[in-house]
Amino acid sequence: KRKLRNILITGGCGFIGSNFIHYLFAQSEFSGRVINLDKITYAGNPENLSEINSKYHGTRYFFVKGDICNLELVRNIFHDYDIDTVVHFAAESHVDRSIIGPAEFVKTNVNGTFILLEAAREAWLEKGRPEGCLFYQISTDEVYGSLGKTGFFTEETPYCPNSPYSASKAASDHFVRAYFKTYGLPVIISNCTNNYGPYQFPEKLIPLTILNASEGKPIPIYGKGENIRDWIYVEDHCEAIWCLLNRGKIGEQYNIGGGNQQKNIVVVKMICHLLDEKIGPLPSGPRENLIIFVQDRPGHDFRYAMDISKIVRELNWRPKTDFKTGLLKTIEWYLTNQEWVKRVKSGAYKNWIEAFYKTV
Ligand code: NAD
Repeated sequence: KRKLRNILITGGCGFIGSNFIHYLFAQSEFSGRVINLDKITYAGNPENLSEINSKYHGTRYFFVKGDICNLELVRNIFHDYDIDTVVHFAAESHVDRSIIGPAEFVKTNVNGTFILLEAAREAWLEKGRPEGCLFYQISTDEVYGSLGKTGFFTEETPYCPNSPYSASKAASDHFVRAYFKTYGLPVIISNCTNNYGPYQFPEKLIPLTILNASEGKPIPIYGKGENIRDWIYVEDHCEAIWCLLNRGKIGEQYNIGGGNQQKNIVVVKMICHLLDEKIGPLPSGPRENLIIFVQDRPGHDFRYAMDISKIVRELNWRPKTDFKTGLLKTIEWYLTNQEWVKRVKSGAYKNWIEAFYKTV
């Protein structure tokens, strides 16, 4: 097991990052410090960590508002906090946004990752590579491209990204790998399937559906909703990251998945039915009637699915949460955190989403 003393978490105010920080502080074996570097873009929300902040701020939790592209700042963090571990979540993460504005994706996902690698290289390698240091890159299944009706991505599947988002993530993964091969920087990369759960920004399919369905608003679905994703409950992803941080092999890449392939239309209908059962149907009838089909996303990948046999074999990790249980927990969270929802749904976000989806 590695000693995790001073962990730099980038993008810790986002969806998976904030869930991971909650997860980390709930582990009795973890007694180190977390330094959360986040720029607070539209997707970042420090409120996600208010409990952690009030309990540990200044002792075991430190928040730095800043950009991973700022080399001077990142250098100072490595120095001031004696960073031994980086868990790199910070990214522009929404495929639709990458289609209308790819530049920000190149800046944060490619350039930002490069800056972090440079700072890690300077801090660790020039000191003679202190024992136990690790750069952990959080990546996605989307870098592998699209599958047809059958088959799975393995860690050997060649990268074949189709969207500006996945291209930027693929580029950053390649830099991480190159820093291991060229400079001997200790790295691990994991590629995970679609996450869902608390604190996800409501532009993504599952929270968008929960909120629109509960409020009786139209639920947009791309194309005919036939695209297939493998959904994992975010806490299961956090557990896999924790296992890999402690016991993953340096220089290796690991696939993480939920073992739960679903068509988008099935996901949306499940949420509608669960809400009908939980809070009753709408006066106008079942929530399924709210579904509207919108013009398909350009370059929309048909199917992603992961072969997770490597992480199962090496670390004995498996996803634990079945889909219905995970959805019920997520629905419960969004219904009881209406204030959070109100605050993240700014006017700008609403205008953007209305302009983007063209009903067909
Ligand atoms: P998110 O969009 O919810 O959060 C991203 C966070 O990064 C935000 O807090 C944002 O403020 C911060 N950030 C953005 N640009 C920054 C910059 N330049 N400097 C510092 N901070 C910055 O994203 P997420 O869904 O939590 O995803 C986290 C990571 O996991 C990403 O790298 C993403 O590619 C990867 N991932 C996501 C999923 C998924 O289903 N959400 C699946 C697999 C992999």
